[in-house]
Amino acid sequence: MKLVDPIIAFQSELQQIRRDLHAHPELCYEEQRTSDIVAAKLTEWGIPVIRGLGLTGVVGIIKSGTSERAIGLRADMDALPMQEINTFPHASKHPGKMHACGHDGHTAMLLGAARHLSQHRDFDGTVYLVFQPAEEGGAGARRMIADGLFERCPMDAIYGMHNWPGAPAGTLSVVPGPMMASSNEFHVTVRGKGAHAAQPHKGIDPVMIAVQIAQSWQTIITREKSPLDTAVLSITQIHAGSATNVIPDEAMLVGTVRTFTTPVLDLIEHRMREVAMHTAAGFGAEVDFDFKRNYPPLVNHAKETAFAVEVMKAVVGAERVDANVEPTMGAEDFAFFLQAKPGCYIFIGNGEGEHRDGGHGLGPCVLHNGSYDFNDNLLPIGASFWVRLAETSLPVAR
Ligand SMILES: [Zn+2]
Ligand SMILES: [Zn+2]
Repeated sequence: MKLVDPIIAFQSELQQIRRDLHAHPELCYEEQRTSDIVAAKLTEWGIPVIRGLGLTGVVGIIKSGTSERAIGLRADMDALPMQEINTFPHASKHPGKMHACGHDGHTAMLLGAARHLSQHRDFDGTVYLVFQPAEEGGAGARRMIADGLFERCPMDAIYGMHNWPGAPAGTLSVVPGPMMASSNEFHVTVRGKGAHAAQPHKGIDPVMIAVQIAQSWQTIITREKSPLDTAVLSITQIHAGSATNVIPDEAMLVGTVRTFTTPVLDLIEHRMREVAMHTAAGFGAEVDFDFKRNYPPLVNHAKETAFAVEVMKAVVGAERVDANVEPTMGAEDFAFFLQAKPGCYIFIGNGEGEHRDGGHGLGPCVLHNGSYDFNDNLLPIGASFWVRLAETSLPVAR
């Protein structure tokens, strides 16, 4: 690896920051302490900041030279509403809240890059350091855009990075095109007519209708979209009834749909509605169909991805770079940034969990698990990648 030497020198400080953030997790749009620390560090290093974009968002601005060119580097800051099982000293001090997605590490890596870039300024242009709130379901990226991020911080491209458990520590991976899925949820209520369970002919049984709808929806995935288009439809909740001898008035189906493209999503949503409506109508029942689109597909731009791959190779070596990683059906609100600006989103391997040296839970070191911990060995690697990406994007004429 060819890391940025001065960053290695303050690795222990970055680890301190990361572990302090880990011990004090804050949920969507509540990242007050976290954003205070980020803003204080940036200010300490002489970096002007904008606060309040996306409520608790922070943007640091580092300018050098005279070029109009600019890029954005983004880290997310929020934690999850779940219990940490780890007992090591930096485990969460707040019951029911945990940095189980590694956003503490993402924040620390970007702070490391910020410090180096502000002290060395070996680039010509502007680097915007985007510290985003509320990635975990709160669409903090969309809110920062709505609050004028790209008007106040005009940038040519934006890049994001997420740790990836299971991939060897410090490996970097990406793929052009769709890399993560759109995330959508549905709440569908079948309204029939309750009756005594011994006299079904006197009512309209919503349970049987809901079961038929549930089965038919899977046919949309297997028979109606192209087999080459990826999509998943999971019914995760079925609610109806309260007694063994009562046919209820209503039955509810709840779940998620994931796709890599919006046209496929359009087809699935449209056909789910039609199948639900017509199946219910066939039995004299009605349907309330509620379909909510949360995060769009995350689609990496080809040119920026190819550019990032070259920087990845320069930092960690070609043997630690996967430029054609398998996409995942997980979702990520960095997708909103990539709808507005060219750029790409990359994964940095977090290892199998061997970095957890005692005091961790018995569970695997995977995202959204109570035994997870970010791998501090990545701090200088991620920060070095950010620095080289900025310097290579905004080269100084020599
Ligand atoms: Zn997450
Ligand atoms: Zn995450």
